[in-house]
Amino acid sequence: MSRKVIIAGNWKMNKTAAEGRELVEALKAELTCSCYDQLDIVVCPPFTTIGAVVEAARGSRIKVGAQNIHWAANGAFTGEISADMLKTAGVEYVIIGHSERRQYFGETDATVNSRLKAAIAAGLKPIVCIGELLEEREGGLTEKVLTTQIRGGFDGISGEKMAEVVVAYEPVWAIGTGKTATPDIAQETHAHIRKELAAMFGEEVAAKVRIQYGGSMKADNARELVAQPDIDGGLIGGAALKADSFVALINEAMGK
Ligand code: PEP
Repeated sequence: MSRKVIIAGNWKMNKTAAEGRELVEALKAELTCSCYDQLDIVVCPPFTTIGAVVEAARGSRIKVGAQNIHWAANGAFTGEISADMLKTAGVEYVIIGHSERRQYFGETDATVNSRLKAAIAAGLKPIVCIGELLEEREGGLTEKVLTTQIRGGFDGISGEKMAEVVVAYEPVWAIGTGKTATPDIAQETHAHIRKELAAMFGEEVAAKVRIQYGGSMKADNARELVAQPDIDGGLIGGAALKADSFVALINEAMGK
């Protein structure tokens, strides 16, 4: 089963509109070869930078994602952004349940599930993050934690819709720390995730779901990670903030 590799940059709380536009212009200048069409390249700026980035990316091979979405269509939810707001702003992808949202903003598997349903209903392409803490890995709880996140986060989603969801496996201990899961450890964990997806949605759907790795992925390790049979790309933090490091990583992921 061949799955299209997806490399997504999560800019987190970085880049003003002008800085975001500048980064996209620099990426466009580098990503001219039609060979880049063999993968999906996504950038996920903060909300206030989305408009400028959508405009700069228009007509290019760079797709735009958001970093969060609220489950309600509208209403008294100060500080939140709806699916319709993202859609009409030109957003195609949305990150849901990033570990920083789980850690600092009370995100749970139940809220991930609600956000996922809103994204799917609006026709957005969700990137749902799951991953274990260091103490959970050290305590031998990785598979149990991931299974719980998968069962809770994907509850009530049809197989047809699930096939289009991107799952980002991000071991929390590897995010922004410079520590990366070895390709073997990452592969073993991705295989577990796919097995759990198969138990929930069937083998055919599980074989279609793209599972990204995230956690200190950079040009140095991208090739070996993406070469693993169950690793279908990466969700990138730090290395996505500069055109040269993001393009170098993309090239390595493509085996270029
Ligand atoms: C992330 O935040 O999704 C991430 C993977 O960050 P970094 O690449 O900086 O570890």
